[in-house]
Amino acid sequence: MFVILQKLDNFAYRNYNENMKIDIITSGPFDTNGYLVSDETNEAAIIDAPLESTHIFMKHIRNKHLKVTAIFLTHSHWDHTADAPELRRQTGAKIYLHSDDKYRVLEPNKFTIFRLPFNLEEFTPDVELSGNEEIKVGNMLFKAIHTPGHTEGGVCYSVENQKVIFSGDTLFDGSIGRCDLPGGSLDTLLSSIHQKLLVYSDDTIIYPGHGDSTTIRNEKDNNPYLNI
Ligand SMILES: [Zn+2]
Ligand SMILES: [Zn+2]
Repeated sequence: MFVILQKLDNFAYRNYNENMKIDIITSGPFDTNGYLVSDETNEAAIIDAPLESTHIFMKHIRNKHLKVTAIFLTHSHWDHTADAPELRRQTGAKIYLHSDDKYRVLEPNKFTIFRLPFNLEEFTPDVELSGNEEIKVGNMLFKAIHTPGHTEGGVCYSVENQKVIFSGDTLFDGSIGRCDLPGGSLDTLLSSIHQKLLVYSDDTIIYPGHGDSTTIRNEKDNNPYLNI
């Protein structure tokens, strides 16, 4: 797949392939990646909603005249969900989250590892996933892949017709998600990655919740956590 990475400003990069545009919006204290994904229909999806990302998302949405219909959350750690309710208000899109991760967004301030100097807004997802759902956004077909291990209800979203997976905190460039937080399990995470992600073709591009994008081939060859 032919991909050009273009730096837009300090926060956002844009990847192009033939049918799909991906803006990478990195925000919050942990440099969490949010993604704005659109195609030629100008319908769009957001993947994850980092803290203070709303104004950056909205700038790109307005500039490109996009209609956002889905906010896909990979899991319910607050650095990925903090701006989801505000983005829902501003776009009218539905929030998708796995049912096993819902409890954290209902009482987000209760489940932070350390006390935050601000309050997180609680919210209820519009659609509770259980895995294997397929959701059409424009001409893109997003599939929810339940990949527990980092959290109970972690989900990766593949765009089935585009060889792209948004992997949240399940799989990173050269690393894997933490398993020592409540709800985490190393064995579960490794089997999620092996059984549900590495089965995708080698040229599938992985867009993680933190850090740089990678490919299935690159992780099979170079990820030390997957080759034990
Ligand atoms: Zn996380
Ligand atoms: Zn994270």
